[in-house]
Amino acid sequence: MTTAAIHAGWSAQDQHGAVTPPIYSSSAYAHPSHASLRDLFARRSDGFAYARSGNPTTAVLEQRITALEGGIGAIAVASGQAATTIALLSLLAPGSHLVASRRLYGGTTEFLDDTLADLGVTTTLVDPWDLSAWERAIRPETRALLLESIANPGAELVDLPAISDLAHARDIPVVVDSTLATPALYRPGDHGADIIVHSATKYLCGHGTTVAGLIVDTGTFDPRRHPERWPRLTGRNSRFDVTFADEYQRGGSGLLAYARAKYVTDLGATLPAASAQQILVGIETLPMRMPKISADAAELAHRLHRSPGIAQVSHPSIPGRPDAHLASRDYSRGTSGVFSLELAGGEEAAAAFCDALQLWTIAVNIGDARSLICHPATTTHSHLTPAQREDCGVRPGTVRLSVGLEDREDLWQDLERGLAAIAGDHRQRPPREDLVTTHG
Ligand SMILES: *Cc1c(COP(=O)(O)O)cnc(C)c1O
Repeated sequence: MTTAAIHAGWSAQDQHGAVTPPIYSSSAYAHPSHASLRDLFARRSDGFAYARSGNPTTAVLEQRITALEGGIGAIAVASGQAATTIALLSLLAPGSHLVASRRLYGGTTEFLDDTLADLGVTTTLVDPWDLSAWERAIRPETRALLLESIANPGAELVDLPAISDLAHARDIPVVVDSTLATPALYRPGDHGADIIVHSATKYLCGHGTTVAGLIVDTGTFDPRRHPERWPRLTGRNSRFDVTFADEYQRGGSGLLAYARAKYVTDLGATLPAASAQQILVGIETLPMRMPKISADAAELAHRLHRSPGIAQVSHPSIPGRPDAHLASRDYSRGTSGVFSLELAGGEEAAAAFCDALQLWTIAVNIGDARSLICHPATTTHSHLTPAQREDCGVRPGTVRLSVGLEDREDLWQDLERGLAAIAGDHRQRPPREDLVTTHG
């Protein structure tokens, strides 16, 4: 894993012997002849023509994540949101049905509820811990299951092998957003995932510099088993004059070939070469960062769990969590650095807690080298209804923490400032009724 994180996809093979993958900043790629470019467009050869559909730097990133996830191919795209969008659009058509975990990133919930619904795809959200709910939700027109291996923001783990068995018994692919886990902690392909999506913006980047997304095909989904369900993959495509499923015969991914030819090109969700290089540099240290971040997050979660003013800590290692057995079964290297707290004093306490911190940064990102904190109900999940927020585990008093690479005790000292601020809150402020009486 550590070796692949540093070497996969690049071995100083350009004409100058560049040791790290260079930023190929060119919009177009020259060809030696008319026939060469013609053959590329006719899909009779591989290479680069115009950077909207890929460039040599993003190709290195695609090979590296393919190696790390143990897949058959990958596509790098402009953001994690683009990765989810393109993966789902490639599997779903108007009239299709999707079954998804309730515990999803806010942007994904909004996409399913709004844009995907506009396109004629219906979604059923289920409790990720209720196996029978997944089974009951599947319909004849269900074309995919979607879940997060570690959910943002509450760090809920899912029984992926059990859910995948249900899906595979019906030849339905399982799409796993593995942004929080990363291949350093968990490889969804080893547990039944067919398609993996990543917001590479987070831990893969690791330093909060770059927005990027990845789609990986693990090689287990084959639309040719049910050509009538996926005619766009298995039938002749008149626009490109190819049958995308033929890629599987060559050991490639028909789904990714289709996704790149059609959606990356049409939506223009291209990853710039400079961004791909930032992600490649980040991945080099990923296997070192994730176990430390995970251990620090678990320790801080425990200390917070024992502190006054905290109604609940949402982390798999907190006693009573229904996913504790999954943590010990599947996550021997830890469960990442994201978890959430619910403050007993609601939104007011959440605000006081965040504002008291000096080291933690108030920002809506995760996976940075710096520790970050935010209030999901008024930020990442603010466009959802209160019921949708509740589904995502977001209440008025919830704050999300993303533990970075600082010293654990420095982070704890700072959190104690937050705890002191909410303790002060309880002692000094009269209850609301008193305020109302006093001021009429
Ligand atoms: C951030 C995030 C996304 C969206 O990724 P962007 O890179 O911000 O577009 C998707 N899923 C999860 C779990 C995320 O945390």
